[in-house]
Amino acid sequence: MNHERSHDLFTRAQSLIPGGVNSPVRAFQSVGGEPFFAKRAEGAYLFDVDGNRYIDYVGSWGPMIAGHAHPEVLAAVEGTMRNGLSFGVPNALEVDIAEVITRIVPSCEMVRMVNSGTEATLSAIRVARGATGRSRIVKFEGCYHGHGDSFLVKAGSGVMTLGLPNSPGVPDALADLTMTIPYNDFDAATRLFEEVGDQIAGLIIEPIVGNANCILPREGYLQHLRELCTKHGVVLIFDEVMTGFRVALGGAQQRYGVTPDLSTFGKIIGGGMPVGAYGGRRELMSQVAPSGPIYQAGTLSGNPVAMAAGLATLELIQAPGFHDALERRTHQLCDGLEAAAREAGVAFHTTRAPGMFGLYFREGPVETFEDAKASDGARFKRFFHAMLERGVYLAPSAFEAGFMSGAHGDTEIAHTILAARSAFAEVA
Ligand code: PLP
Repeated sequence: MNHERSHDLFTRAQSLIPGGVNSPVRAFQSVGGEPFFAKRAEGAYLFDVDGNRYIDYVGSWGPMIAGHAHPEVLAAVEGTMRNGLSFGVPNALEVDIAEVITRIVPSCEMVRMVNSGTEATLSAIRVARGATGRSRIVKFEGCYHGHGDSFLVKAGSGVMTLGLPNSPGVPDALADLTMTIPYNDFDAATRLFEEVGDQIAGLIIEPIVGNANCILPREGYLQHLRELCTKHGVVLIFDEVMTGFRVALGGAQQRYGVTPDLSTFGKIIGGGMPVGAYGGRRELMSQVAPSGPIYQAGTLSGNPVAMAAGLATLELIQAPGFHDALERRTHQLCDGLEAAAREAGVAFHTTRAPGMFGLYFREGPVETFEDAKASDGARFKRFFHAMLERGVYLAPSAFEAGFMSGAHGDTEIAHTILAARSAFAEVA
């Protein structure tokens, strides 16, 4: 594959933008080599500036669940933008999307739109702290909730990929208020709540950890956290920025039947535009300004063009059978990859939820962050490049989940498995 134009762009970018990218994992640092620069995207495919085509299992890190450049999403954006790009006064699409989100996710009686997942999680913990009058928050090792100060403590995603789970620039006084426990460990949560439960404002969790590859909750684990939070008056926050509207129409909370007090969203609800949201119980959300004293605001929040893209995407994924098909396709892909690895004699395991998956170069099961870290990173790196050379773009990090969209069909999956057969043989 020729990457001449991407190389030239990356060379220019590196002197202008830190690391040459506007978000760290894009730089391919953990897999080595240089990123390719996209020119356009359509359906399940990305096309780079050198004319190469890739089956895309990153989906812009989650938003593109309907496939790239879906004609209905583009039409909604085009139609809306002709009326103006931003008004600074309320618009009808904000009410429409709030209606759709609160209908699909019943735990969200009220919702506030913001511009990113990071803003959503920052705002949610502010509500938890403001409503309880407590300061401490609890998060899980390997979970990533955006780049807000309180969350860059034993975090996953890019910070884990780069070996920076605790970031310089976060004052100790603030980091000390964030307590971390291992995901899927029932006793660790019980013990912590028994010790300091009355000081904890909120517990935030990725119900499926998509930022430490893809780790699923053990049977009853989310229920256990729900019970602890209720008992100790702690606000339970599900960070569904990744899982929301994906692993079920109503997100992980619907899939596992657990009701959080607050939820955070992003990615899919913007359909590819910069959008986030947080919502939850009316009693909590009505404490947000201007109806209450907890302040949060945004110049571009509820932007009409972004709302239009999100609404069109949410409309598409409400089609009957959409999530069933996504789940079927995810199994089809993962079963095929596991079979290809077995053929080549490579130790390999996948974890799956509808539309998202984890790839591990080790035998299963993978249920904890320690299990995820024990994957053979060097082999993943070689496999990543072997697949890229064969026109398949996987997440460029061993700590990121893969994503599928409604546009990934038999053809794309068959091509991917064929590519994997020879890629596994290459890394065996
Ligand atoms: N929460 C989760 C679970 C995420 O996966 C991400 C981003 O990947 C965020 C929060 C932050 O979202 P954003 O990158 O839109 O700020």
